[in-house]
Amino acid sequence: MSDTLNPCVSCGACCGTFRVSFYWSEAEDGGGVVPVDLTEPLNLFMRNMRGTNDRAPRCVALQGEIGSCVSCGIYEQRPTPCREFDMSGENGIYNEACDRARAKYGLPPLFSPVKPSLIESYVNLSASTLQEHVQSPGL
Ligand code: SF4
Ligand code: SF4
Repeated sequence: MSDTLNPCVSCGACCGTFRVSFYWSEAEDGGGVVPVDLTEPLNLFMRNMRGTNDRAPRCVALQGEIGSCVSCGIYEQRPTPCREFDMSGENGIYNEACDRARAKYGLPPLFSPVKPSLIESYVNLSASTLQEHVQSPGL
């Protein structure tokens, strides 16, 4: 969520879909950086971002309107799951969870993985088309 070309700045769907839980020591009172007031205990070892374990999840740190304009209020202090959750298509890698969260808010998928069989079909089609073009002049 750092520049205007990043689809995340007009999305935020993952912050309003999933429970964001992490080992308790990521919070400030455990020596970590996540503001403890924005977390709540999940069990003996885990905490979660407040709001993300609710029936209608929405992280308390999320600012703005999902699907329009959003930012993370604790971007530099966000917990590991947020740091590791890539938007679908980043580095060419499909993230089904990203697209599923976006769909929940009526947002289109960012990335459509192409099946290997389709790639093979395309390669075969291209090869036969090329052959036709090469052979067509007078042969
Ligand atoms: S759901 Fe995907 S695109 Fe939307 S904010 Fe999360 S990572 Fe970014
Ligand atoms: S901490 Fe920030 S990135 Fe993580 S769920 Fe909350 S608003 Fe989203």
